[in-house]
Amino acid sequence: RFAYVNGLYLRHPEAVVHVEDRGYQFADGVYEVCEIRGGRLIDEALHMARLERSLKELRIAQPMSLGALGVVLREVVRRNRVHDGLVYLQITRGVAPRNHAFPAEGTPPSIVVTAKSSPRSAGDLRAEKGVSVITVPENRWDRVDIKTTSLLPNVLAKQAAKEAGAYEAWFVDADGKVTEGSSTNAWIVTMDGGIVTRPAESGILRGITRTVLFEVAKAAGLRIEERAFSLDEAKAAREAFISAATAIVTPVVEIDGHPVGNGAPGTVATELRRRFHEFAAEAPAR
Ligand code: PLP
Repeated sequence: RFAYVNGLYLRHPEAVVHVEDRGYQFADGVYEVCEIRGGRLIDEALHMARLERSLKELRIAQPMSLGALGVVLREVVRRNRVHDGLVYLQITRGVAPRNHAFPAEGTPPSIVVTAKSSPRSAGDLRAEKGVSVITVPENRWDRVDIKTTSLLPNVLAKQAAKEAGAYEAWFVDADGKVTEGSSTNAWIVTMDGGIVTRPAESGILRGITRTVLFEVAKAAGLRIEERAFSLDEAKAAREAFISAATAIVTPVVEIDGHPVGNGAPGTVATELRRRFHEFAAEAPAR
């Protein structure tokens, strides 16, 4: 396997960053994860736009043009011969003597890109069976709209899910409302067929998959209600599902041990999952 590290394509054992990288010391960086399908990057432009926004919000310099970054992403995908899988891009504030305040102006950001294969069948099988989620109290900062590598609450939540035999953990805020999963957006389908997901204005990362699902739903004549929903409402919903580049649409069949609906993957989630890649294939420039 190969990784891109600050201008070089290196074999994995040699793909290292400096001990004084701010990503290592402060989690002072941002990232993106993009799906690769049939050798193509899915929704590249949307991921790049979000990356640019994350960098701006944290005042990390953009190290190269988005076009140039796209070339690097594709080269890492090519060198790793990834047909179906994921590409990971991380940009940190660079290497500097440890000090909480920003390093000297002109310190170059560090860029790392890796890619890995993951067979479609694994995700498809997970979606056919559906997944379980547990819930944990929301304990993250109020800038979860930034896709930063600073992910300790998410790490602890996902580990709690794993130890409970679940696939994902949903954060629940002080009002009893579900915000999102540790690495996915959260959705429900109400008994009257409304597809509900929390507005991206507060409490969640604006997932690219989430954004595209609005278009997919529209094309399918389905209506999405953008509003916060409570954990109680989710437990009583007809369906639930999660969305992310790593999961596309994956039905949730159990929340904190309660079956969702009849305990099987829902028809709306299954239909949205099927339509997602059809839609991506029809609009390759997005
Ligand atoms: N929410 C969080 C906290 C995430 O980390 C992610 C993705 O990793 C998502 C939502 C889904 O975003 P996307 O659809 O862009 O993968």
